[in-house]
Amino acid sequence: VIKIGQAEHAIETTCAYCGVGCSFKAEMRGNELVRMTPSKNGQANQGHSCVKGRFAWGYATHPDRITKPMIRKNITDPWTEVSWDEAINYAASEFKRIQAKYGRNSVGGITSSRCTNEETYLVQKLIRAAFGNNNVDTCARVCHSPTGYGLKQTLGESAGTQTFESVMKSDVVIVMGANPTDGHPVFASILKRRLRQGAKLIVIDPRRIDLIDTHHGRAQYHLPLRPGTNVAMLNALSHVIATEGLIAEEFVAERCDMVSFNKWREFVSQAENSPEALESITGVPAADVRAAARLYAEAGNGAIYYGLGVTEHSQGSTTVMGIANLAMATGNVGREGVGVNPLRGQNNVQGSCDMGSFPHEFPGYRHVSDLATRELFENAWGVPLQSEPGLRIPNMFEAALDGSFLGLYCEGEDIAQSDPNTQHVTAALSAMECIVVQDIFLNETAKFAHVFLPGSSFLEKDGTFTNAERRISRVRKVMPPLAGKADWEVTVELAKALGFEMHYKHPSEIMDEIARLTPTFSGVSYEKLEQLGSIQWPCNDEAPEGTPTMHIDEFVRGKGRFMLTRYQPTDERASKRFPLLLTTGRILSQYNVGAQTRRTDNTAWHPEDVIELHPVDAEERGISDGDWVGVASRAGETVLHARVSDRMQPGVVYTTFHFPESGANVITTDNSDWATNCPEYKVTAVELIKVSQP
Ligand code: SF4
Repeated sequence: VIKIGQAEHAIETTCAYCGVGCSFKAEMRGNELVRMTPSKNGQANQGHSCVKGRFAWGYATHPDRITKPMIRKNITDPWTEVSWDEAINYAASEFKRIQAKYGRNSVGGITSSRCTNEETYLVQKLIRAAFGNNNVDTCARVCHSPTGYGLKQTLGESAGTQTFESVMKSDVVIVMGANPTDGHPVFASILKRRLRQGAKLIVIDPRRIDLIDTHHGRAQYHLPLRPGTNVAMLNALSHVIATEGLIAEEFVAERCDMVSFNKWREFVSQAENSPEALESITGVPAADVRAAARLYAEAGNGAIYYGLGVTEHSQGSTTVMGIANLAMATGNVGREGVGVNPLRGQNNVQGSCDMGSFPHEFPGYRHVSDLATRELFENAWGVPLQSEPGLRIPNMFEAALDGSFLGLYCEGEDIAQSDPNTQHVTAALSAMECIVVQDIFLNETAKFAHVFLPGSSFLEKDGTFTNAERRISRVRKVMPPLAGKADWEVTVELAKALGFEMHYKHPSEIMDEIARLTPTFSGVSYEKLEQLGSIQWPCNDEAPEGTPTMHIDEFVRGKGRFMLTRYQPTDERASKRFPLLLTTGRILSQYNVGAQTRRTDNTAWHPEDVIELHPVDAEERGISDGDWVGVASRAGETVLHARVSDRMQPGVVYTTFHFPESGANVITTDNSDWATNCPEYKVTAVELIKVSQP
């Protein structure tokens, strides 16, 4: 027992907010959490933290928590509290009824990056083994699925290449489509430390983010491109590198597939990909693009960090591949200080993808059509498994509307609020016959649910999260589950009620199974996590203590592969009726749809979503700071307070999406990434009009 202030003991665990994965000491008095202090031993944060992890944990015991299972026959009926057995048996009987009537593929599940690795592993296991199909998806679909696709195609592994601390060896850093100061604050402080030492910064973002002005001077280059033109920008940067003799020829010859490289070089060298030719598309002066390209290519160590401003586009996967091309062409992969580094949004986005929560992949990114992998899982689980990929989240919605997908198990994900084009999503949810929501709050999705299974917060369970550095860290139970069961136990019981038994006494046994079945995790165990503090995968016989830097001697796929990245304008265009382009992002004190942070004192810092617009656009419309503004798009409309700001460029407006009443996703469109269906949250044509009140 450690005596700390008011606390009687402290338990080390991992923050449940962003993909930095900070370690904290949960200081306890009995079963009461009294304080969260950042852990100096934390290998991702080394004693640092932000206002979310440090202060926004009160939601875990908020009066809104639902702690009793509930059912209702129709979504217009009131909820009835029932026992766990009754709720789980009712859910299972409904799923069985739907499958008997509509077929094996008529049900599926969605898991969440809020959940632990062990929980997401179990959800995909339940879907594949108990439902007998591959209709499982994760909320990574709507954020970093293009990262998974793009990095696999080029580098061979669906993960970032470096540790956060690696940036301390970078000479030039590109931050593209990310706002680390708000979204990944602890990484932002490491980056700022390096910038203070003299490293150079290039920001590629439509908005003037804080980082540009806050590191003892300014970013060397801010390339404020128009939303939707990332690929054009990367092609322009690549053009400069390819045509000005800036290719790392030796690295490319030794490490990369030359056929793909030669095609890429020929493609980006074309005059149509020059910064001058693309200036009218990106809106960025060609001279700045040329200078930024030279700065990055001539850096001793050049690193790229990117976020959802890269992935959440109709060309999200193409953009990720363009980033990987740029890093390979300049030899910036395979050592400290360089690399391709997705800043993952949620705490366990990396983990939920690693755990096989996609309809086409088993854990470890192995395709369901691969016979050897399928046999491995069939032998381990004792059931036949399907070789056809299942439905992605948007396909589930479409199938619901055409009457072929009628049952959904949704754990820890509020699709009604977080997915784009709310009207389409809610119509699909309304069409289903049984929705089972497992969550800590009655969220927006639960309004369409027939069974509510109380979830457990990160404080109430054991498990692991995997951060953006591929770092697996322990989540430790600091208090008993408020509803009596941890999420993993609920999934096990639901599987049993469906006729598929799983036998685990503790999440460590789930991790042991993951390790047995997943080569990149084969050396991971709770015991080793206790010894080492955390482990960056791959962790196996070749790397028994994990892998901080990937692709050192060769790429995971062997030779690095260049992919052609032809710019394709998004279907979402500004028009006379909708002349402005809306993009979205997050703010420091709030988190995603705000289910957690809105139920904490952090709301005092940021009590509402607002729409930011440039003074020129404001003046044209007679809008002043603080006015109510109607925001209309082709999909819908909402009302927000205006914030007039020169952070924005004329013609581009910006909002956050933390409050359900703001309805940011009422106005976003159905457009999505061509490869992964990741929604295009970052480009919506809108018009603003001053209104007297909402
Ligand atoms: Fe939590 Fe991310 Fe803040 Fe760290 S930086 S405390 S992981 S929200």
